Amino acid sequence: MKGNPRLDAAQVDHRDNFAARLLAWFDQHGRHDLPWQHPATPYRVWVSEIMLQQTQVSVVIPYFERFIARFPDVRALAVAELDEVLALWAGLGYYARARNLHRAARLIVERHGGEFPHAFDDVAALPGIGRSTAGAILSLGLGQRHPILDGNCKRVLARVHSVPGWPGQAAFERRLWACAEQHTPAQRCGDFNQAMMDLGATVCTRARPACQRCPLSALCSAYQRGEVECYPQPRPQRRLPVRRVRMLLLQADGKVLLLRRPPIGIWGGLWSLPECGMEEDWRAQVARYGLAIKAVERLPELRHTFSHFYLHIEPLRVEVEADRAVMDAGEAVWHNGPLHGRGVAAPVARLLASLDDS
Ligand code: SF4
Repeated sequence: MKGNPRLDAAQVDHRDNFAARLLAWFDQHGRHDLPWQHPATPYRVWVSEIMLQQTQVSVVIPYFERFIARFPDVRALAVAELDEVLALWAGLGYYARARNLHRAARLIVERHGGEFPHAFDDVAALPGIGRSTAGAILSLGLGQRHPILDGNCKRVLARVHSVPGWPGQAAFERRLWACAEQHTPAQRCGDFNQAMMDLGATVCTRARPACQRCPLSALCSAYQRGEVECYPQPRPQRRLPVRRVRMLLLQADGKVLLLRRPPIGIWGGLWSLPECGMEEDWRAQVARYGLAIKAVERLPELRHTFSHFYLHIEPLRVEVEADRAVMDAGEAVWHNGPLHGRGVAAPVARLLASLDDS
């Protein structure tokens, strides 16, 4: 690989040992019964890998099973409405992942006749698929030799090689890619990559790793030096800004007004509540919808954390008298009962549930 440091003889030995030890451990202790492993087609591995970004296996499993039952292959996903894809994603968060998945399925139909591509560059050219995800799809799904570097692998490699730095830092990532490339064996590459993820998830955990039962402990620099807790270093803290927003639960005849959000941006394409800035006149906004206010109730504030800011939501329940100005239309509906295929973001779902409870 371009830019990788050359290996000396000791490192070559280290590589052979590393893969052999890890694979022997995987055969006995690895995870062999995950739903996307049976069968592990590139399409199923792809869906699972995208869902697993930022999300734990136990959370992903029921989402994966529902998603695959509804969209068993690329073509089924490509012809689906985005709304339905988002509805099956609702609750997993990071909705750009679902939009990219949908867009990529359409591109696979256009560019590759609906067959998941087998060439690394074709896979990595699809939206939402980076180097590690492409490597995971092709190694786990087709047995090709490609290294991967997800969060679990980064932690294991940073400790085994005592690599200073933190995830996201360019020099740290470069060193770890070089390590991953060096350790990845020519045979059983899919098992090796799965083993790396399993070891990171179950043994070499963020807190209190179980080094006593780790197959790599004899090779692990951080363990040998008693510095396991030092790797990887925490990312320097950034103070996230806070945004405040008022959300309006406009209720008429037991129904709540939902608006579809624009396709790009936060919660793009999902259904949400009318909202306005804290300085804006929400009564004027309600009047613009042609609704007369009958009663107002302030509900408890909610907080939601995005990767780059905190959102503080101040919800108002407003009983209104509806006239014909806001009627069911493509981008606005009076909603009642279960969500039935309508994707809504988690805090909006919580607010709607609180109405049901009350
Ligand atoms: S010995 Fe400990 S720190 Fe090193 S790889 Fe194994 S679990 Fe991780």
